[in-house]
Amino acid sequence: MSKSQSILGKFGLTLPIGSIMNIPMKIHWSMFLFMIYIPVVGVYKKMEVMEIVLLCVITVLILGSVLLHELGHAYAARNLDIKTHDIVLSLIGGVARLEKIPEDPYEEFKVAIAGPLVNLVIACVLVMGLLISFGTGMVEVIPTFKNFINPDIFLNSYDQPLWIYMMYILAVSNLALFAFNLLPVFPMDGGRIFRAILSNPLGRTKATRIASMTGKILAIGLIICGYYFRQPIWSIIGIFVFLMADIENRQEMRSHRFRQIKADALMSSVYDRVKLVLPIQEVINRHFDTDISTFLIEDSKKKIVGVIDKNILETAMREKTEETPISHYMTQRFALININDDFHSIHNKMIKEGLSIGVVMDYGEVKGIIAEEKVRGMY
Ligand SMILES: [Zn+2]
Repeated sequence: MSKSQSILGKFGLTLPIGSIMNIPMKIHWSMFLFMIYIPVVGVYKKMEVMEIVLLCVITVLILGSVLLHELGHAYAARNLDIKTHDIVLSLIGGVARLEKIPEDPYEEFKVAIAGPLVNLVIACVLVMGLLISFGTGMVEVIPTFKNFINPDIFLNSYDQPLWIYMMYILAVSNLALFAFNLLPVFPMDGGRIFRAILSNPLGRTKATRIASMTGKILAIGLIICGYYFRQPIWSIIGIFVFLMADIENRQEMRSHRFRQIKADALMSSVYDRVKLVLPIQEVINRHFDTDISTFLIEDSKKKIVGVIDKNILETAMREKTEETPISHYMTQRFALININDDFHSIHNKMIKEGLSIGVVMDYGEVKGIIAEEKVRGMY
């Protein structure tokens, strides 16, 4: 789960590989490069065929863990009635594209922590499996505790059966996924968890600023360490983290500003109301008299049943069919906005639905209109 979803979306080109829990699973093209890269490196390093196959198997198993991590997010989101569009596996990790990221800190916490927890559970199960294998004498050589907890020594000991090594690598990978994702940095899950915890006492905006700042400091540290230890990949990740922290901060600032903007700030009173029974000429006359070009059409019970906007008006004037009833021209596609709606919901009701006029209501009474341009202009 991350904001990189929008970046990914632009790259496009994913291959569907089926669906789990009714969520489509897709593989991003960058992943195919990786799958080709492994055997190529294997051949280049003169590895045996069996070793290359094993390397591929372990890679697929690790990818499976990433997939389960994303399913963890999706499952937690589903419990909060948030749908997951799809899960995309790419070179930079998995992404569960959620319909929305919950704004309530407790809910955001639950969705964010669910992914890393899956990896922790997998790692625990595998470690238990290993310990049981050693304890029940299923393997001949039982490693000392010191050797067992040091992957460098354990993986180079060569006195265990292959499946033990596979389980071990998978357990270590899942622990690494768990730890890496918990880094308190956007766009990692840890960044969201950190923000959710801070949100309670500080409010979401301040929490985002602090979480974003922490991320930037860590990112700068990573860039410097990369340079110092001659690890360019660290510096590249550092730059990526820095940019993501910045984007997250800006987005949150914007969405905070949008929550403060209510319907009355966008509303205009430059409109007129016309009765449905009148011919279109009435609207045209009023337009020439007052220069108003948005008309709300009301029925005999004064209920708004349609609108005529500038475009419709121009069409009507061109067609010169004065006696044609208003109902022939008016559109019923307008948004009903509540006076208490904030910018987010107004944007959803109008722009996402492709409606050019919003009629602002307060207890059944029309308070004003909102034009599409006004909403678009806010971005
Ligand atoms: Zn995650």
